[in-house]
Amino acid sequence: MAEKVTLSVIKADVGSVAGHSCPHPSMIAKAKELLDGGVKSKIINDFQISRSGDDMEFIMTHNSGENAKEVHELAWNAFIAAADEAKRLKLYAAGQDLLTDAFSGNVRGQGPGAAEVEFEERKAESVVVFMADKCGPSAYSLPICRTFMDPFTTTGLVIDPRAHQGYDFEVVDVIDHKRVVMSAPAEMYDLLTLLGDTTRYAVKRVIHKELGIAAVISTEKLNITAGKYVGKDDPVMVVRCQSGFPALGEVLQPFAFPALVAGWMRGSHYGAWFPCASEESTPTFYDGPPRVVCIGFQVSNGKIQGIEPPNSAPGKHVPVDMFSGKEWDYVRNKAMEICLYIRGHGPFMPAIVSPDELEYTTRPSVLKKLEPRMEPL
Ligand SMILES: [Mg+2]
Repeated sequence: MAEKVTLSVIKADVGSVAGHSCPHPSMIAKAKELLDGGVKSKIINDFQISRSGDDMEFIMTHNSGENAKEVHELAWNAFIAAADEAKRLKLYAAGQDLLTDAFSGNVRGQGPGAAEVEFEERKAESVVVFMADKCGPSAYSLPICRTFMDPFTTTGLVIDPRAHQGYDFEVVDVIDHKRVVMSAPAEMYDLLTLLGDTTRYAVKRVIHKELGIAAVISTEKLNITAGKYVGKDDPVMVVRCQSGFPALGEVLQPFAFPALVAGWMRGSHYGAWFPCASEESTPTFYDGPPRVVCIGFQVSNGKIQGIEPPNSAPGKHVPVDMFSGKEWDYVRNKAMEICLYIRGHGPFMPAIVSPDELEYTTRPSVLKKLEPRMEPL
């Protein structure tokens, strides 16, 4: 049997320039040094560093399976090196997502988010990685449902014999830390009963009964992990495409609907999801809008294969940046229109999240102050 490959996407915000905007190039250079070392010492086979807004994403291939201590430690050390550089340069929120001083064997629960999938490489292993900024893990629920449940999005569910059986969904309750696996289409309405509550439920994995994991999402809720407000979750998602899984286009189409997602500005606002290229993901409007970046590549013999970037030396290759095309201008314009509309509500719901979801609030102190003046009706 062929050796299995693991794709690990581990992300964190460890500092940025001029507020919650973009990591400094020397932070990325420091992280790259560490990951280059990881390739030399054979901890990982290959890697790419990408970014979405103020988050850095390490996309790594290796043969050690999910939750491999040495891979997580490598990512942790690379984030520490980038955070140290951010501190040295006095950047904003340096080390923000690194919640503990020492690595304890796995990045989960320590601040960074992780989406990992182990698989036997298919003849052609097409993969896309989504990277979100200024939103929580439930943001992916709507597009995931469209791609894996909705035949009006994914015609493959109707006409591809392998996709026709449907998919299993692993749903997590991010508040009570429980999970349940349910099947679509058989339990579709029950699934949507849970997933419609984006304050509590999120999809962790989508699984094909024969082909294995189709999609995996980082579902760590940073404010819950830390017990207090420390930043946004800004989740990542890995989706395997084609040959029994949805076609690339069936995975991307749902993002043409600029859905409202929670986590914008102070982690407390709703905004329309804005699909854009990685290099255009710097938040410049009200610390947003909430972004989603998507890069695609092949995993081939354990390595990441992409395309030649413009104006680059021959031989260099990078992933395909899926939302860089002009087709997405229409969606971006629509997203901005919705964002401006919802901003018109200022601090009123539904522009802001519910009182329970606010990352911080003055309400208890205001109510305490007013207590003596509160009268029965
Ligand atoms: Mg972020």
